[in-house]
Amino acid sequence: MTPDLECTDLTKRFGDTTAVENVSFSVPPGSFFSILGPSGCGKTTIMRMIAGFLEPSRGDILIKGRSVLDVAPNKRPVNMVFQHLALFPMMNIADNIGYGLRRAGLQKSEINRKIEEALDRIGLPGIGSRKVDELSGGQKQRVAIARCMVLEPDVLLLDEPLGALDLKLRERMKVELKSLQAAFDTTFVYITHDQSEALVMSDTIAVMNEGRFEQMGTGRDLYYRPDSAFVAGFVGDTNRWHGRIERQDGERIEMRTDSGMVLRGVTHGRALAAGDHADIFVRPEAIMISHSEQDLSHFDNRISGQVTSLLFNGAASRVLIGGTAGGEEIEVNLPQSGEFASLSKGSYVHIGWAGDQGNCFSAGAA
Ligand code: ATP
Repeated sequence: MTPDLECTDLTKRFGDTTAVENVSFSVPPGSFFSILGPSGCGKTTIMRMIAGFLEPSRGDILIKGRSVLDVAPNKRPVNMVFQHLALFPMMNIADNIGYGLRRAGLQKSEINRKIEEALDRIGLPGIGSRKVDELSGGQKQRVAIARCMVLEPDVLLLDEPLGALDLKLRERMKVELKSLQAAFDTTFVYITHDQSEALVMSDTIAVMNEGRFEQMGTGRDLYYRPDSAFVAGFVGDTNRWHGRIERQDGERIEMRTDSGMVLRGVTHGRALAAGDHADIFVRPEAIMISHSEQDLSHFDNRISGQVTSLLFNGAASRVLIGGTAGGEEIEVNLPQSGEFASLSKGSYVHIGWAGDQGNCFSAGAA
């Protein structure tokens, strides 16, 4: 099947700065594709090249199999939703949605039909005569998407569209955006620095760092099988220790951390040997906590320490354990069982995790 969007060796230089370097990806029809990365990694530059606002220094962009490099921005079969939605405050909702259709010269009856259909799809039938400022933030968001979708783009580009919303609305809109994408059955390309947005909505996520794609895959792939230390550290919460490998036996390694602890981990096939500098990553949910050292005796990583902070967040509460032999703070999920309800700052506890939960990557010297 021809991909809706394909970029090959996409590169953009601004003078001495290489903002995007050799980025290649293809997005199958009707999917939700996200580019996730820290500020300044080159996400917006990719979007602007796809939309036609910037010319690539090298590489090609194909939409439905055809190169669009020679196509002017307003003639490309893509549309873009920005963080500041850019709805026209003087127009009512129907006129906002119909704006591009009028410019395209469609007949009034056809425009009205498409507006009604779009309002139905976004779950807001009958609000066409309302003013923009009579809508909630989430409703405005849906109208901004409808305004793009009536033009039937092959690809909708979304540049951090939830960034301006408050936390609660952002949580709800993540789910809504995904269902809008399914309702319109159109490819969405979404850029964000917020991993939780990318994880919730995307079929495929590309993690970007310093102009390059580090890894592409499903949220699960990135979370459970990161290919690089950058992805392991950027996607999801994690504990990280730097040190030097003392022993290696096949996949299994023993590392002495810079703080002097010995931790066990696995390499997942990466080439690592005794003497190498390395990082071990362990997810907070992989670490068990107990009042009894005995309960953890089957784990090959065990540490004792004291609770330094309790971060209450309902089911997702966390504990920070400090006062360990290595001196660092370790983040652990707080179990729901009542046994831990009385934990407080200063409580003495034991923690442990299996060696195969320690994901080990090569690293430079600290
Ligand atoms: P953010 O999340 O902060 O928007 P981003 O990942 O979208 O960041 P870009 O805006 O694509 O990052 O910028 C990538 C790099 O290219 C940055 O170093 C930026 O300073 C540089 N850059 C972007 N546009 C230009 C420009 N017109 N001229 C020179 N440098 C630029």
